[in-house]
Amino acid sequence: MTATAAAWNLASNGLDVAVPRYTSFPTATQFDGAVGDDTLRGWLAAHDGVSPISLYIHVPYCRQLCWYCGCHTRAASRNEPLAAYAETVIAHLRQLTASLGTRAPLTHLHFGGGTPSILVPDSFHRIMAAVDDLFAIRPDAELAMELDPRTITPDMAGELAAAGINRVSLGVQTFDETVQAAINRVQPYRQVAESVAAVRAAGIAGLNVDLMYGLPHQTAASVAETAECVAGLTPDRLAVFGYAHVPWAKPHQRQIDSGALPGMQARLDQARTARTVLQAAGYRAIGIDHFAKPADGLARAHAAGTLRRNFQGYTDDPCQWLLGVGASAISAVPQGYAQASPHLRTYRHRVRDGGLAIHKGIEVSAEDACRRSAITTLMAYQTVDLAACAQAHGYAPQLFANGWTALAPLERQGLLERRGWRVTLAPEAWPWTRLACSAFDPYFAPSDGHSRAV
Ligand code: SF4
Repeated sequence: MTATAAAWNLASNGLDVAVPRYTSFPTATQFDGAVGDDTLRGWLAAHDGVSPISLYIHVPYCRQLCWYCGCHTRAASRNEPLAAYAETVIAHLRQLTASLGTRAPLTHLHFGGGTPSILVPDSFHRIMAAVDDLFAIRPDAELAMELDPRTITPDMAGELAAAGINRVSLGVQTFDETVQAAINRVQPYRQVAESVAAVRAAGIAGLNVDLMYGLPHQTAASVAETAECVAGLTPDRLAVFGYAHVPWAKPHQRQIDSGALPGMQARLDQARTARTVLQAAGYRAIGIDHFAKPADGLARAHAAGTLRRNFQGYTDDPCQWLLGVGASAISAVPQGYAQASPHLRTYRHRVRDGGLAIHKGIEVSAEDACRRSAITTLMAYQTVDLAACAQAHGYAPQLFANGWTALAPLERQGLLERRGWRVTLAPEAWPWTRLACSAFDPYFAPSDGHSRAV
């Protein structure tokens, strides 16, 4: 069997397993209570005052829940909790930056959620004023926000642009009406097109769109139709994520009829279809699930070999200091990861008591950093020179030798090749990149509740 045939005709060959997304390494399942407020304060105190900072602000509220949602969010029908949350975020921001001891340069700001635009206008402006007060925002900084197309108005787009937001990310997922009804997210094409027009008319140039496959009742044909429609809106970046059905972790997903979910073969067909359509429309495939126009910064970072992973997926942000603000937000700094409490009441109380609300995290060891560089490279490029990674971190390549056994099933089916210490996935085997990465993850246990590889 050729690698192509093997890649797309695998129903039960041992490759349909749950693996981490590797947006961090070690992954969040390894975080524990050994990391607390004092740990993060100590890490931040080591910042040199001039290295750029990236800031992530999490807003865990939406007007209504989509049944497929895997984010940390909740439905909010009233505005009072939102204003109170914004004040807690501002206090958190001040307490976090106090440890930096300087007004550090800010190169990236990302509002994620949830639906962060739910804070526009008043609470959003208060947070932006605090960010401006606490950081030296670089003139070329990327200031981004995730938006729900169902809530965008020309006035909102104008407010965002006036505050400096220069990139937005729209959650589209699918235009198939049957699928939209099944996931409790009805948003016709016209509504999305009007949102895109409003954002552009306001002068916001950067546009990302998120799509999904593997949703209930979804087919390769409907994925193709959605991808073609979205490509016609000419966003500069797209992400195409597979739906992760984890109702034991996200109880609202029980509203989704598991019998209507596509199987592994159908998911593969849908992922491949989206990729084919978007590449035909002129987008470059970036890693396993992102796409960008050739002139976009993400495509340029990919070409330059500087693509990285962050909690949103792939990024061209080279910053080593990511501060996470808000309930469940994760700070990623050279020494390790620290996550704020996802429990809103706990988060609020601990911040009001002057703390950083750190719930758990992990210190990154020298070996972790070495393995992270190999995993990040493999996630970004589907090939990695393990000897070069090891050498760059002062290790012998044998550090990775215990990964060979786990790679054997991929090798046997022609999906992966080893030459010396270089590991390379076949071009059509990108869906198994996360599985290949797990071979070099000594913490990985198949029962950790991750999403499926495809
Ligand atoms: S709008 Fe986004 S964050 Fe909110 S429930 Fe839907 S998918 Fe989740």
